[in-house]
Amino acid sequence: MERVLGRELGEFIRRLHEDHGVVFHLGQTARSIDEAKVTLADGNRIEADLVVAGIGVRPAIELAEQAGLAIDNGVLVDELLQTNAPDVFAAGDIARWPDPHSGERIRVEHWVVAERQGQTAARNMLGFRERFDQVPFFWSAHYDVTISYVGHASRWDRLEMSGSLQARDCRIELIAGGKLAAVATIGRDRESLEAEVEMERVRSSNIA
Ligand SMILES: Cc1cc2nc3c(=O)[nH]c(=O)nc-3n(C[C@H](O)[C@H](O)[C@H](O)COP(=O)(O)OP(=O)(O)OC[C@H]3O[C@@H](n4cnc5c(N)ncnc54)[C@H](O)[C@@H]3O)c2cc1C
Repeated sequence: MERVLGRELGEFIRRLHEDHGVVFHLGQTARSIDEAKVTLADGNRIEADLVVAGIGVRPAIELAEQAGLAIDNGVLVDELLQTNAPDVFAAGDIARWPDPHSGERIRVEHWVVAERQGQTAARNMLGFRERFDQVPFFWSAHYDVTISYVGHASRWDRLEMSGSLQARDCRIELIAGGKLAAVATIGRDRESLEAEVEMERVRSSNIA
């Protein structure tokens, strides 16, 4: 999770799982999967009754492509979630929209974003012309530790941490181009909600 949350938090999550008996084989791939074992690329064998493959997802864009919609890592939409075809909207995992906070086109794979975009797209189909400017967020629960993340940072220049990861009470700010791009917290739900409200406020003033 280093790519999304930074090295400190990535290492913390790894240790947390190791403390619960998880063994990592990083930098390996599965060469083969048999009935009762997995063989890794380095020849090591792991006994396994059950294999869960968490190998990522890709948006299913064939239909959109055939229909002539503009595609670039998802279906491209404007701030109203409208595609390049009149009266065709896209929402959720498949939609790549102009995020007013980062100034980038982003595509987010989380269910609250999908739900909220579905609502905005539906209202815009009815002619409301409502911008989608909400701040993405997700929670990630690991045993009794929940990480709350608001904003979106595909990359950052600076990471600032306050509090203590060991005490499970901390806030991590990901700063990109001098702007606060995302905030991750552990044990600080109120702060997380306040950060979301603040980002929503900054967004509205950027748009206004
Ligand atoms: C293993 C896993 C764990 C996840 N955990 C979390 C989590 O903890 N928290 C969180 O916020 N998010 C989580 N997500 C992400 C979340 O599930 C997605 O963000 C959300 O489901 C996106 O909703 P959606 O409606 O955009 O897409 P989907 O739920 O993928 O729905 C798209 C639908 O379109 C259908 N479809 C595709 N092509 C066609 C076609 N040509 N014709 C007709 N139908 C078509 C598909 O069959 C599917 O039913 C998880 C995802 C996975 C895979």
